[in-house]
Amino acid sequence: MPTAGSTSKYPEKIRNEGVSRMVEGHAPADAIVVGAGLAGLVAAAELIDAGKHIIVIDQEPEASLGGQAWWSFGGIFLIDSPEQRRFGVRDSLELARQDWFGTARFDREEDAWPRRWAEAYLEFAATEKRAWLRERGVKFFPVVGWAERGGYTATGPGNSVPRFHITWGTGPGVVAPFEAKLREGVAKGLVDLRFRHRMDELVVDNGAVVGVRGAVLAPDAAERGAASNRDVIDSFELRSPAVIVTTGGIGGNHELVRASWPKRMGVAPADMLSGVPASVDGRGLGIAEKAGARTINGDRMWHYVEGITNYAPVWAKHGIRILPGPSSVWLDATGVRLPVPLFPGFDTLGTLEHIAATGHGYSWFVLTQKIIEKEFALSGSEQNPDFTGKSIRLLLKRLGRGAPGPVEAFKEKGEDFIVAATLDELIAGMQAHSPDVELDTASVRYEIEARDREIANDFTKDLQVAALRQARTYLGDKLIRVAKPHRILDPKAGPLIAVKLHILTRKSLGGIETDLEGRALGASGEPIPGLYAAGEASGFGGGGMHGYRALEGTFLGGCLFSGRSAGRAVAAL
Ligand SMILES: Cc1cc2nc3c(=O)[nH]c(=O)nc-3n(C[C@H](O)[C@H](O)[C@H](O)COP(=O)(O)OP(=O)(O)OC[C@H]3O[C@@H](n4cnc5c(N)ncnc54)[C@H](O)[C@@H]3O)c2cc1C
Repeated sequence: MPTAGSTSKYPEKIRNEGVSRMVEGHAPADAIVVGAGLAGLVAAAELIDAGKHIIVIDQEPEASLGGQAWWSFGGIFLIDSPEQRRFGVRDSLELARQDWFGTARFDREEDAWPRRWAEAYLEFAATEKRAWLRERGVKFFPVVGWAERGGYTATGPGNSVPRFHITWGTGPGVVAPFEAKLREGVAKGLVDLRFRHRMDELVVDNGAVVGVRGAVLAPDAAERGAASNRDVIDSFELRSPAVIVTTGGIGGNHELVRASWPKRMGVAPADMLSGVPASVDGRGLGIAEKAGARTINGDRMWHYVEGITNYAPVWAKHGIRILPGPSSVWLDATGVRLPVPLFPGFDTLGTLEHIAATGHGYSWFVLTQKIIEKEFALSGSEQNPDFTGKSIRLLLKRLGRGAPGPVEAFKEKGEDFIVAATLDELIAGMQAHSPDVELDTASVRYEIEARDREIANDFTKDLQVAALRQARTYLGDKLIRVAKPHRILDPKAGPLIAVKLHILTRKSLGGIETDLEGRALGASGEPIPGLYAAGEASGFGGGGMHGYRALEGTFLGGCLFSGRSAGRAVAAL
């Protein structure tokens, strides 16, 4: 509520409009949830179910309720699900644990809580996660995707089996039940929901967090995901015995991403795309630190290497991630083919490190029309109107001839796509597109022709070709994900396509260190009374339950699990 004696230039009516829904006279809040993304909504839902009175604040307008999760593809990591079993995938907790720990590579003292979170999360994903979501009306597409295929040894990074379950309804389908619960809480007078309320400080009294201070921002009609104004029209202070920080990561703040970029990931490219809205600004982490919370693993981040420039951007530098099938030939900026096992969709971090070490912030896919039709999925709810709109009619079109509509639209309008009838034309188009870096045209030609020779060879020493053949033994891949192996230069498979791929910032794998109840820990390792954290702000649990790399579909799941844990712990106070 606007403070008395405010010097705001905005009249009181405007200040109150759309920014405060305080239910006058209701009981003092049992908890404050900062951030109405997925983690905040899940924590709030637990508190509402427990009959608690809560205040939920978010810096953005109501249009952006749900945060990043609304934009997400809704990919969910499950272990040994009926969907997997129906497609002949034999999964187990032991196999998933082997994959997780081989991928995470925990190697630090501060990984103690992240390791425990990883164990707890694996148990959740193998047992109650699916049923808990289904009870809330969340359903999954029957074909399970195979993300992060690895390509190393059994103990190395990657998923041994397909585990990426696409939510029927994508991100909005994951958000819906928790948003509905929030609205139910508002209707019952349990929730005081305040948009345009930005946390700037946690109120600390005698070492305990007892509330939140911040700024009331001016109303803004920005559409979902678009940057909103930062005009301060008032200040606020709210008190409560428990504050849950669910303010997300740092991916929208490139300055912070660069400052956190570790040497082992090479050099942060001068020009990166942004895979998240500007609201993912990382400020919440600094605010928690000032209140005494320890943040850990800030140098562990999960950015993508297959970013394309959005021709219809919603936020600044808006990029879309291609979720690639494995057939495209991957070249660095100079035209040299990426080494084994850096094939599309195999090892995101390994590929990022390799590309960054080349000194150029981009790479190229070379492929055919036949490959793009089957293998290009674009991550994001708005790029998948069939899954998002739960439309069988649109979905069937995806199975038919031609690339999905949004992919075709990028091919036509996207600045990163080059389409050509011959390899000469394609190479000339690539060079003209990026004249600053000299493309070794002879090398590109040699690589493509040599690779094509291996397609005609049943034995093959080209491990990418071998991987394509092996992938198609999985029915899900054969049906919708992996094109029948063919020569890139086969005119029947054309036209040829080259796609310039940028680095796309997305997730923070580190964050506020928490115990299994989501209690934020201080420098001594003891919980800070009153302070909790969940979601990306807590590294999806513990301050980084993924370690260095992720198996995919584990971020939404991490928000569900950590939001639920923190909400339950506060409800039990
Ligand atoms: C396009 C896209 C596709 C994705 N696809 C997948 C997928 O398929 N599977 C998967 O597992 N994950 C996916 N993700 C990642 C996943 O969606 C996010 O990691 C997750 O939703 C983060 O949720 P959160 O609640 O922790 O944070 P956020 O969603 O970032 O929410 C944080 C909220 O806090 C608010 N806030 C921040 N600071 C303050 C402050 N100081 N005061 C008040 N409010 C504040 C923000 O406005 C925001 O509403 C995807 C993400 C994107 C963007």
